[in-house]
Amino acid sequence: MRNEAWRRRFALEEHFSAARPGRGHRALASLHRIGKVPAVVTQNIDNLHQASGIPPECVVELHGNTTYALCLDCAAHYELAWVRERFAPRGEAPNCPHCGGFIKSATVSFGQAMPDAAMQRAEELTLACDLFLAIGSSLVVWPAAGFPLMAKRNGAAFIIINREPTDFDAIADLVIRDDIGDALAPFLSH
Ligand SMILES: [Zn+2]
Repeated sequence: MRNEAWRRRFALEEHFSAARPGRGHRALASLHRIGKVPAVVTQNIDNLHQASGIPPECVVELHGNTTYALCLDCAAHYELAWVRERFAPRGEAPNCPHCGGFIKSATVSFGQAMPDAAMQRAEELTLACDLFLAIGSSLVVWPAAGFPLMAKRNGAAFIIINREPTDFDAIADLVIRDDIGDALAPFLSH
């Protein structure tokens, strides 16, 4: 089961390693540099916000990150290349050299609880912000969808940028129904 998960992860490697930050990612990084977007809370697992230049400590990943692995017992980090090297010969995932624990891709699996630290950080950021931008999310996946509502109830302005309508459009202060890259392109700095 564990080995099968790793086999599937490595089969997707080409897909993930080919992904590059888009205009939306880069525009948010530009806004971060000038102090306008202090942090990003994301359901993405592709590491592209960090790749676009937002420091890792300013990216809160509710669903984890697929570009590295973690020991489930001692939380040691491992590069995927390190796991693949050991997985390749016999199709068996290595155990943690420090404690012998299981090593798993650092993503949150379906049905698994969201990581406490990330949820708490997202809540703190939500309650501290005066403007909450919900970008490229259908806002249907709970509990992540609860954050914009929390921000709005706390007095923050709430803007949605999404190509499709969302259930929260009616309570947003502004809805921009457009491609994320097009909508954010004016904020790109070079
Ligand atoms: Zn360990």
